[in-house]
Amino acid sequence: MKFKVVNTGSLENPYAAEMLAKIGADYAQQPCWAGEQVVEIARDADGIITTPFDAQFTREVMDGLDRCRVISNMGVGYDKVDVKAATDRGICVAYVSDYCMEEVAEHAMALILACARQTAAINSIMKEKKLTKLQPPWVEKPIFKLRGQTLGIVGFGRIGRTLVRKAQGFGLKVIAYDPYIPPTSVMGYDVELVRSLRQLLKRSDFVSLHVPLTEETTRMFSTKRFKTMKPTAYLINTARGGVVDQEALQEALSGGYITGAALDVMEPDLFLDSPLLKLDNLIYTGHSAFYSETSGPELRRRVVQEVIRVLQGKWPQNLANPGVKRKFKARFKSRQ
Ligand code: NAD
Repeated sequence: MKFKVVNTGSLENPYAAEMLAKIGADYAQQPCWAGEQVVEIARDADGIITTPFDAQFTREVMDGLDRCRVISNMGVGYDKVDVKAATDRGICVAYVSDYCMEEVAEHAMALILACARQTAAINSIMKEKKLTKLQPPWVEKPIFKLRGQTLGIVGFGRIGRTLVRKAQGFGLKVIAYDPYIPPTSVMGYDVELVRSLRQLLKRSDFVSLHVPLTEETTRMFSTKRFKTMKPTAYLINTARGGVVDQEALQEALSGGYITGAALDVMEPDLFLDSPLLKLDNLIYTGHSAFYSETSGPELRRRVVQEVIRVLQGKWPQNLANPGVKRKFKARFKSRQ
């Protein structure tokens, strides 16, 4: 019987049909926003491709997938998939790691610069013809040079580390908080690893988030955290919207607990009616940090390669649930 692969995500994949045809598999795309749709469309699929923007893969959804061997996530994150449930069900959860690190780190740097130089605000003032004289202050917020200010990186993983050199190039002093890495991990970076998030928040002029969305990091940025930050500080979030409590952020931005925020991600991502977007001291870039002309094709090919590996009897290169192997072998009687 021919393998069937369904892309339940909203991002098109122009390479998938041809790559899968080479192994005799059929490919179709049907974006799904809800779990029930996924079950309806992909009940008999052997492999599923999804994105971080679309339907959640809950335990109920996975129970409805009769033949699925692999859910391949078109991205670095796989937080839309209940990994434990997938493991119990014998489904591999694959993802595309270490792509777009440069892009996201550059985007974080662009957001830091936009806050520091107030470029978005000045641009709006110019276009709305609100500026009458070419002399300071262009905007109400004070503008300081970056050199000598402190950047606090929360989550010193692939992207956090990639940001370091870019930030240091602008003269920022970099400190980091990541309780899951040994102190030796910062060797060679000229970065101080601080012991607590509180310390990082108290000292940073810019706080840039680079943690995954986990139970622990969900709404990690609450009113208490914003009140700990400097009132002159900015929050930069290119990680996941769920890491920030958005109501608390709104209170922090309106109440002056912090000066501003620049978000690439919100929860949900296209929450264009969010009251946050009405605030002048908030920048939002619509989950575009991962994208560049080269990162897009790479991502799309690699997400399909992971499906092909599994259908051909190999493990994915990036398997989020290595504990799945025994169940998978029993279920599909494979010698993987
Ligand atoms: P990574 O796994 O390499 O690094 C994450 C780091 O966070 C790890 O070092 C981990 O120890 C640390 N961490 C985990 N829990 C923590 C906690 N409670 N406090 C402090 N540190 C903690 O991940 P990465 O590839 O650097 O990606 C980081 C984030 O960026 C992820 O959320 C990912 O989904 C997001 N991302 C966003 C985009 C985008 O387009 N905006 C693109 C790619 C990745």
